[in-house]
Amino acid sequence: MGINEEQLKEIEEFRKNKQETVRPISPDLEEILYKPIPVLDHGFVRVVDYMGTDSSIVQAARVSYGSGTKKVNQDKGLIFYLLRHRHTTPFEMCEIKFHIKVPIFIARQWIRHRTANVNEYSARYSILGRDYYVPERNQVAAQSTINMQGREEVLNDAEAKKVMDLLHEDAKRCYENYEYMLNEDKEGNRKDESRSQLARELARMNLTLNYYTEWYWKIDLHNLLHFLKLRADSHAQYEIRVYAEAMLDIVKKWVPFTYEAFEQYVMNGEHISQKGVEILKRMINGEKVTQEDSGMSKREWGELMAIFDK
Ligand SMILES: Cc1cc2nc3c(=O)[nH]c(=O)nc-3n(C[C@H](O)[C@H](O)[C@H](O)COP(=O)(O)OP(=O)(O)OC[C@H]3O[C@@H](n4cnc5c(N)ncnc54)[C@H](O)[C@@H]3O)c2cc1C
Repeated sequence: MGINEEQLKEIEEFRKNKQETVRPISPDLEEILYKPIPVLDHGFVRVVDYMGTDSSIVQAARVSYGSGTKKVNQDKGLIFYLLRHRHTTPFEMCEIKFHIKVPIFIARQWIRHRTANVNEYSARYSILGRDYYVPERNQVAAQSTINMQGREEVLNDAEAKKVMDLLHEDAKRCYENYEYMLNEDKEGNRKDESRSQLARELARMNLTLNYYTEWYWKIDLHNLLHFLKLRADSHAQYEIRVYAEAMLDIVKKWVPFTYEAFEQYVMNGEHISQKGVEILKRMINGEKVTQEDSGMSKREWGELMAIFDK
């Protein structure tokens, strides 16, 4: 994982800093607070702060003076109702702040989610680390012929090795040139007195997109669930999906009722069009419906049928 011994020690020290609070907390999330969860070869996700729990959603929905909670069953039922009926603002009452280390080409997809607050490591101010991403052997796959935004079968051993060697060589060579242009030793002094030191903001452009960047990323629960719906989906690129899956586990620890409702109604639920509902009604009434008499295109029909193949 792209975090060194010293940083891990710092995290452990920080975790000892316990304080009493009257705020609602999630015991399971407290267990992993600050701890990095490894993702990809050098990436990680870790929670650095959060506000609210399932009870805060209930509290906001009931506009309560106290905790707002009633019986566990009633609270869970309310959360399920809110999510099922697409209420949003009660879920916006919970916030979470992550520290994420992610390859730059995935950060570009991630940053499209505009509802988060982001602070990224400055490569104008600091020198980027040596960590770059190379996919595991079983992820080195050919371009899909049916989905332009996807991959298909895994390359054979010889081709996969060639690809992985190229990725390593290019990344290392670019980093060597980056260091050459920076012309800086560990103490920040000029390495070669006969040459200038190129500005960090310029030297960085030589690095390949698989170098890792880091950011703090803060978002409310409603918008986090939207992000996870899109990025934990099978259509999302594998390299962002694995981050989303790690974050789903975090959500499960943080707000277990909301997570359960989200799984039920959003992740594993389906939206069906008016035409789709009519087709289902015909099928329930025993009619044999085909694509040709469904009034749907082949693609839409295929998507409807795929729901039942899951
Ligand atoms: C599988 C996949 C493939 C993709 N392919 C491409 C691609 O080829 N090219 C490309 O450019 N992008 C692509 N994207 C990115 C995609 O189009 C969205 O930009 C990205 O998923 C962010 O979604 P969002 O806008 O809903 O999220 P957020 O920015 O988090 O916004 C959340 C919600 O807030 C609301 N909102 C936020 N900002 C505004 C605003 N300014 N005005 C109105 N409403 C707002 C919207 O309701 C939005 O859904 C892809 C995404 C996925 C998941």
